[in-house]
Amino acid sequence: MASPTFWISTAPLASDGELTLGQLSGPYVAADVLARFLRAEGRGVLFTGATADHSAAVEVRALRRGRSAAGVAEGFRAAIDADRRRAGIAFDRIVSSHGDRGYSRWLRTLVAWLHAQGMLAPLERPLPHCAPCARWLHGAHVTGGCLHCGTAADGAGCHGCARPFDAAELTGPVCALCSAPVEARACPRLFLRLERFRDPR
Ligand SMILES: [Zn+2]
Ligand SMILES: [Zn+2]
Repeated sequence: MASPTFWISTAPLASDGELTLGQLSGPYVAADVLARFLRAEGRGVLFTGATADHSAAVEVRALRRGRSAAGVAEGFRAAIDADRRRAGIAFDRIVSSHGDRGYSRWLRTLVAWLHAQGMLAPLERPLPHCAPCARWLHGAHVTGGCLHCGTAADGAGCHGCARPFDAAELTGPVCALCSAPVEARACPRLFLRLERFRDPR
């Protein structure tokens, strides 16, 4: 392969379920077509994919089924990769956060670097909390209504309008595991200081 001048990376799919046609046709087929086009033009391309094995959706599915999160991720990652291969999606490399040697070391190095650069801010912000489960709820752990469009959503976002919001902003939030209504409490967390990169124009 020629020295790559283009790196095409697809959105990592949470490994809590099987691949859907929409997921296949959106990020994967489109990226594969682009990679093939660039190669036909003589350009060097590195085409990579991954699965989001540490997604909250994986943990929620594991808790519901009484399984380990790693076991759930491993099973669906294998199914997703097999379906992508059957569809002819030709990744050069599929990253595995569990299986790749050095991945966790690289991630710790990155977080330590961000902290040293002052990019991580410890802030206390509201986060839904389930008293019966004694658990802070983020991502797929909490469900409710999107504050923008009212569609059923979870703490990771809204599939109806795709506009971002904080998990504490869901309307009528309930715990995804026990269905108890939940309230937001102040929770200390680390935030990326992205605001400093906002385009001033
Ligand atoms: Zn919405
Ligand atoms: Zn609960």
